[in-house]
Amino acid sequence: MGKHRPLFVVVSAPSGAGKSTLCSRLLAEAPEFVYSVSCTTRAPRGDESDGVAYFFLSEAEFMERVRRGDFLEHALVHGNHYGTLKKTVSAAMAAGKSVILDIDVEGAGQVRRIVAGLPDGDALKEGFLDIFITAPSVEVLRARLVKRGEDSLAEIEKRLANAVGEIARAGEFSHIVVNAELDKAYSELRGIIADKVSGLDR
Ligand code: ADP
Ligand code: 5GP
Repeated sequence: MGKHRPLFVVVSAPSGAGKSTLCSRLLAEAPEFVYSVSCTTRAPRGDESDGVAYFFLSEAEFMERVRRGDFLEHALVHGNHYGTLKKTVSAAMAAGKSVILDIDVEGAGQVRRIVAGLPDGDALKEGFLDIFITAPSVEVLRARLVKRGEDSLAEIEKRLANAVGEIARAGEFSHIVVNAELDKAYSELRGIIADKVSGLDR
């Protein structure tokens, strides 16, 4: 293998598809990857701590950072603001790390447009990979969300209603992984990443 060049990976999925499960496994097994910690105005859930799961900001703090142009992308998702800081991505890439963004389809679209406008040879453009993860059906998503037991039934229905619109945008992504059987989906994900790395090495 040639010299390592960092990847800039965007992963989107409807809630319950298994994105967190797949990304956690990738981050545990692939030390060259770092997770891009986003900012959000939503309240912390369970044992989420500030700076690890998210940077938890007030609405005023978030809007101030929007005004200052600190975000690479930002979007309103399920009624809360979420955004990726430019400096999170640039610091990771400058350190030679591959970075993984777990963001919604709207944010992924914004990133795709930014990348398309970059000159050839730019590290972000060369390393860009966008992947949509989904489940075999909305019914499977529902069953997983119910089994996960983290959200109220009302919240689950809201997420499933959003899922329909998200799945409708899957075709915007260059890769789609249908997470039916976890190990198989994980190997597919690793395969997509390995192909990208070997494409860069050529
Ligand atoms: P997301 O981050 O996309 O919302 P999670 O990774 O939290 O989804 O997965 C939702 C639930 O489904 C979790 O309880 C997880 O353990 C489970 N899960 C993930 N992948 C599979 C799979 N292939 N088969 C069955 N259950 C799965
Ligand atoms: P959750 O609140 O369940 O952690 O995340 C809800 C949704 O927000 C998920 O689809 C997640 O991918 C998305 N999200 C998390 N961080 C960001 C971000 O920085 N930007 C955008 N656009 N979406 C994000």
